[in-house]
Amino acid sequence: MAAWGSVIGLEVHARLETRTKLFCSCPNSAGGRPNSRLCPVCLGLPGALPAVNREAVRLGVRLALALGCCLERRCCWARKSYFYPDLPKGYQITQYQRPLAIGGKVRIDLPETGSRWIGIERVHLEEDAGKSLHGVLEGSSTGVDLNRCGVPLVEIVSAPELTTPVEAAAFARRLRAVLRTTGVSRAEMERGSLRCDANVSLTCPGRPPSPRTEIKNLNSFRHLRRALEAEIARQRKIVEAGGQVRSETRGWDDRRRRTVRLRAKEVAAEYRYLPEPDLPDLQIDDALEQEALAGMPEPVHQRRDRYVADLGLSAEDAGRLTDDPRLVAYFEALVEGGVTPRLAANWLLSEVLAHASVSSLAPPAAQVARLLRALVEGRIRTHRAKALLAAAAAGEVCLAQALEQLPEAAARSPQQLERICRQVLVEHPRLVERYREGKSALLSFFVGRALQASGDADPRQVREVMERLLAAM
Ligand SMILES: [Zn+2]
Repeated sequence: MAAWGSVIGLEVHARLETRTKLFCSCPNSAGGRPNSRLCPVCLGLPGALPAVNREAVRLGVRLALALGCCLERRCCWARKSYFYPDLPKGYQITQYQRPLAIGGKVRIDLPETGSRWIGIERVHLEEDAGKSLHGVLEGSSTGVDLNRCGVPLVEIVSAPELTTPVEAAAFARRLRAVLRTTGVSRAEMERGSLRCDANVSLTCPGRPPSPRTEIKNLNSFRHLRRALEAEIARQRKIVEAGGQVRSETRGWDDRRRRTVRLRAKEVAAEYRYLPEPDLPDLQIDDALEQEALAGMPEPVHQRRDRYVADLGLSAEDAGRLTDDPRLVAYFEALVEGGVTPRLAANWLLSEVLAHASVSSLAPPAAQVARLLRALVEGRIRTHRAKALLAAAAAGEVCLAQALEQLPEAAARSPQQLERICRQVLVEHPRLVERYREGKSALLSFFVGRALQASGDADPRQVREVMERLLAAM
């Protein structure tokens, strides 16, 4: 039997985190009474003129830069014509030739196959269409909600370089982390602010690849992986029986675990792309690029590597933490509060997340840090600490109050504190050097280590001592 492999490319749409829509001042927010957030521009009424939302462009440029893309200095808008009941204009304004950016790459990290860079072909801006509402109105009628018309999207098209469904899911997950960390999009698949289409075809050495099919609207990482697995198996069955895979657009039926044919695959000519006559070319100048770069966070893959190399976390924990900036912030607050990185990662990823969701992490990290310091100092036992955390997360006890009632740790004199801080610096000569080279974020790490060694010292006091010692080095 032939050794069939698969080649997968993803098209990811993310809703940009702007206040208003892409070409008008209607609010860009989910929900709202159907058809209440509309104006002549997003309805495409005759004579209404679109005007580009600069904030949407800034976010698109920010994402492109975070992905290492090459910016198109002068990009243009195009009309993509098609008929949908939820697209009153009969066309969508998008970017076709000369998109916002091309090139770029995303790193994926998998335990089985290690780290690998996946190319990005293009990043462009476009407006969203409305939504058909099935099963909402009485009887068998279908409703149409146009609130989403004109909502700004960024589309990211990967190179066809993914080889397995697991890799495809890892790519989408890492891209989501980049979108969130940079503040470009909330990228919530379950709420539709991140949507994924997957192209897949079979390859076999010595033969041309089979025609590809596209699976539309995959709205969770699990669906993405399962749909690709099912589609690859379906295609393999066809070619192994001597048949031909047809190029078509398919959907995913998760209940029956199979892809279903929607329509023959459109080719670009069928969309009748035209230059958008109502919008001038979009110029990306240096000022806009600088704005887009402002406050750019540490790249997700770099932070992951740093957590492994400098903080001693496992690759799996580092990957899970850096998957979401809210976990990163909570974790760093724990470390800043004097908890060792490994203990912080363990408790956050198991105990805290067992009782709270990523979007509402509780109790506050500063309190959990105090709890974990008490644990390390032997002032509370593990099972009691876990129970206390669970009760606090459920709102049954006030953690701050419970912490007050724990036995005191021995107080520290200023001389003792200074000796402890000095010891921490002596133990980490390489990190001290990096701090002096400008890695100022390492201060929290030193403070954390000193707090851990000192028992229940005042973090502010420790920070002062540490800053003084580092400045004098
Ligand atoms: Zn509008």
